[in-house]
Amino acid sequence: MAEIVLDGVSKSFGSGQRVVDGMRLRIRDGEVFVLLGPSGCGKSTVLRMIAGLEEITSGDLWMDGRHANDLEPRDRDVAMIFQSGALYPHMSVRQNIGFPLRLAKEEPGETAEKVTEMARALGLDGLLGRKPATLSGGQRQRVAMGRAMVREPSVFLMDEPLSSLDAGLRTELRMEIGGMVRSLGATTVYVTHDQIEALTLADRIGVMRDGVLQDVGTPQQVYDDPATVFVAAFLSSPQ
Ligand code: ADP
Ligand code: MG
Repeated sequence: MAEIVLDGVSKSFGSGQRVVDGMRLRIRDGEVFVLLGPSGCGKSTVLRMIAGLEEITSGDLWMDGRHANDLEPRDRDVAMIFQSGALYPHMSVRQNIGFPLRLAKEEPGETAEKVTEMARALGLDGLLGRKPATLSGGQRQRVAMGRAMVREPSVFLMDEPLSSLDAGLRTELRMEIGGMVRSLGATTVYVTHDQIEALTLADRIGVMRDGVLQDVGTPQQVYDDPATVFVAAFLSSPQ
């Protein structure tokens, strides 16, 4: 697990205006932190800066006590999954989840054990021999999570992981994903524009608007006592 600290972090693309503006935030060791806000407010950009996929324009990023602005992505101990966690279609669930371990030349017995453990945590026990095409969208997303997390990184970044699923599946997974993510044990930053998702699964929520963090607190705090009129309106607006 790892603490993530953003100290006045800003991002502009080219000579344009700041799409992330002076963000100050401490994400605690092991918590599930949801970054919530409307489309285009800068959520993915924040996540990509934490992953090391986007350069920080100004300010400082600290991960696990290390200054991380200039760390290569592979040195950050981070896993990230996106909307459509694309799987290898010709490989079984077992092979998909185990693939990063095979790449890292882990011992096969060790790999089998870790894959089995991961499948259990994600509710995929009976499906290890199946190919992705025979799974539901929700099951495929779980396999993508397993593959991202099998090397046990200390930070797990998720960018709108449910948004490509249909409404029914989204509702079902929304209830379960918090428990699954917690069982993986990493510090998790979860990006969404869906306030119900945020309120359901977060330990704490940060609400963003136009590159600025407007409020941070537990679901109950931001819902009952929103810091701004925007936060109040956004949290209570229907999907
Ligand atoms: P969100 O994830 O909240 O929808 P993003 O972080 O993707 O928002 O984008 C924030 C803003 O930054 C948007 O206005 C978007 O157009 C802009 N942006 C994102 N990536 C780039 C890029 N590579 N070049 C220029 N502008 C970008
Ligand atoms: Mg985004």
